[in-house]
Amino acid sequence: RDVKELEDLERRISDFDPKDVTTFTELPISKPTANGLKLSHFATMTEIQKQSIPLALKGTDILGAAKTGSGKTLAFLIPLLETLYRDRWTQQDGLGALVLSPTRELAIQIFDVLRKIGRAHSFSAGLVIGGKDAQAERDRISRLNILVCTPGRLLQHMDQAAGFEMGNLKILVLDEADRILDMGFRKTIDAIIQHLPKNRQTLLFSATQTKSVTDLARLSLSPNAAEYISAHEKA
Ligand code: ADP
Ligand code: MG
Repeated sequence: RDVKELEDLERRISDFDPKDVTTFTELPISKPTANGLKLSHFATMTEIQKQSIPLALKGTDILGAAKTGSGKTLAFLIPLLETLYRDRWTQQDGLGALVLSPTRELAIQIFDVLRKIGRAHSFSAGLVIGGKDAQAERDRISRLNILVCTPGRLLQHMDQAAGFEMGNLKILVLDEADRILDMGFRKTIDAIIQHLPKNRQTLLFSATQTKSVTDLARLSLSPNAAEYISAHEKA
């Protein structure tokens, strides 16, 4: 990543009109992400991707609601990779991105997509969904740039490890926020957010837009720079 390439990318982002994009190749994104998408055979964006990725690339916080199967995973993973890339994140920089998912199964699915589209990046990424050896898991977390995890397991680590470093975090993703809340994780999420720096970007995705999801958005998204998107596929 040379300086000129990053400057070009920043210029493309500021010149970019978030409307009227249909394919991933039209997005102002880095070569590694573009390559990962191409190698994974992703070409045309879904409705929620078209509406949220351009805004998220410009740094906006997002509450995105779209039904299951509409492509929400790429809607947050692409901005996540780009945020770290544009911040010149290296493996030595510690944890830069956190993705919270309600269940182990969904966390594994997110991680698989991240491995596919992030294959040309050099970030370290890991899953933390509870294992037998908590100490080994903590040692591993300290070396990760991108962490995909379930809320309960993360809070357990935060409570047990004094040196758990979240102070550099650039981007927080809450995926399936409605399910996270249905599963009774509201207090856990509140406690996690207390540990995070305020000047981060937050992307919150949900299949439904309930009052409790809107409440969580109010708590976690930036009050003056957030977009609320509700995407329905056109027939
Ligand atoms: P959601 O999180 O909204 O339920 P996913 O992100 O799991 O949806 O995506 C659902 C399916 O659609 C996955 O199989 C994924 O690979 C596929 N998909 C997502 N985005 C695209 C796209 N732009 N083009 C083709 N397939 C896509
Ligand atoms: Mg999903």
